[in-house]
Amino acid sequence: MSITAQTVWNSCLEFIKDNIQPQAYKTWFEPIVAVKLTDNALSIQVPSKFFYEWLEEHYVKILKVSLTKELGEKAKLVYIIKMENTYGNKQPFTEKIPSSNRSAMKSQEVDVPLNNKSPELRNPFVIPGIRNVKIESQLNPNYSFENFLEGDSNRLARSAGLAVASKPGGTSFNPLLIFGGVGLGKTHLAHAIGVDIKDKYPEKTVLYISAEKFTQQYIDSVKKNNRNDFIHFYQIIDVLIIDDVQFLSGKTGTQDVFFHIFNHLHQNGKQVILTSDKAPVDMQDIEQRLLSRFKWGLSAELQTPDFETRVSILKNKLYRDGVDMPDDIIEYVAKNIKSNVRELEGAIISLIAQSSFNKKEITIDLARIIVEKFVKNTKREVSIDYIQKVVSDYFQMDIDTLQSKTRKRHIVQARQLAMFFAKKFTKASLASIGSQIGKRDHATVLHACKTVDNLSTTDKQFRKYVEDITKKLSV
Ligand code: ADP
Ligand code: MG
Repeated sequence: MSITAQTVWNSCLEFIKDNIQPQAYKTWFEPIVAVKLTDNALSIQVPSKFFYEWLEEHYVKILKVSLTKELGEKAKLVYIIKMENTYGNKQPFTEKIPSSNRSAMKSQEVDVPLNNKSPELRNPFVIPGIRNVKIESQLNPNYSFENFLEGDSNRLARSAGLAVASKPGGTSFNPLLIFGGVGLGKTHLAHAIGVDIKDKYPEKTVLYISAEKFTQQYIDSVKKNNRNDFIHFYQIIDVLIIDDVQFLSGKTGTQDVFFHIFNHLHQNGKQVILTSDKAPVDMQDIEQRLLSRFKWGLSAELQTPDFETRVSILKNKLYRDGVDMPDDIIEYVAKNIKSNVRELEGAIISLIAQSSFNKKEITIDLARIIVEKFVKNTKREVSIDYIQKVVSDYFQMDIDTLQSKTRKRHIVQARQLAMFFAKKFTKASLASIGSQIGKRDHATVLHACKTVDNLSTTDKQFRKYVEDITKKLSV
């Protein structure tokens, strides 16, 4: 059996070797071990999740071509990810994770050549009253507590999460609302709670869903005339995790249905976990009655991690991916990328990639170039268009409204803020800012900048707007 796997894989390797750079071959193909062959499926073992993702991103085509040559049109490739040394767990273990969707949820085999089916809710509408229906949790097992490193910035949220996980529905943290800026770990932590609950209470029905998907399902249910089935489905869940609830703002129908589902779950001692990019007090266009429910439990903020936490997040990531990197380089990256864990990880990944492709050692100089690119890339995004988009998103209006001639106070203020930030973050002249933001003249822009300056010293709410938008623009 394993001989066949080996021979098939050897032939694939020969083909691949002829078609890619020697260094890339050495880095990404030599470490692979062919494990077994069953029917048309070849299982290969890769050293880390990073490795698997890299193969999927860069070599899926050549893998497919070579394997199809060997096994025919029905060829399948199954990755087995070997996790050598997982933190806090000395035992090596093996895991299979899905391919088509990176954030995919359930462990399943990776099936390269064929269609990219994304994991849908298998059973979105379940007839109520039937016991023991299986609902897929849609949880990502990689987003565990173990992998969610603790620091001052997340201690409250993390321990509240742990408390909820050990007694879902049985603490006063119901709902538990996790809020914080982009890339600070809200989604990760929300999954971790779900994963832990599933682990401790396998019989509980846990469901993770983004507010966006929830909204879509609701809209579909209205179209198909089965709104009640939709509601019943959600009412049988023991632990409901809704990610990015700010997405519900302005969507009154969905808010309304969520309100009823929430009440039902809460009254029945079921746990609700929510995440949001804003604190409840700052949420706009969310009905008061729903906001007041959000505040019943605990709102815990994820803040930007301090230097030590950033270092440990990086170290943990490298450890899990089986990559060695000198401390001074890790510290250099951590020192320079501050506001967003996702970017922090992104920088380290491109550093590894650069070094292995160009056969360069990972040096401080290489780190400097990459970090600069990261920092620059994010800065480059700040154009006047982008500023208008951020500001209008923040106030939940569209750009046309922001630019319109209306004198309504909140719209005027949004427009003035956009002008103020355009002045602050771009090199454009007052005249050019004016012409791009609703065809105003330079005097209007100047007036706007002064007004924003004044208001942000005298008006607390207004200052908050300035701070929030500044944060968004500098992420
Ligand atoms: P958000 O939902 O707040 O935008 P995510 O949960 O998607 O952020 O996190 C972005 C990335 O940063 C993910 O890869 C996540 O695993 C990682 N991350 C965030 N916080 C931590 C942490 N405390 N420890 C380890 N990884 C983290
Ligand atoms: Mg998220």
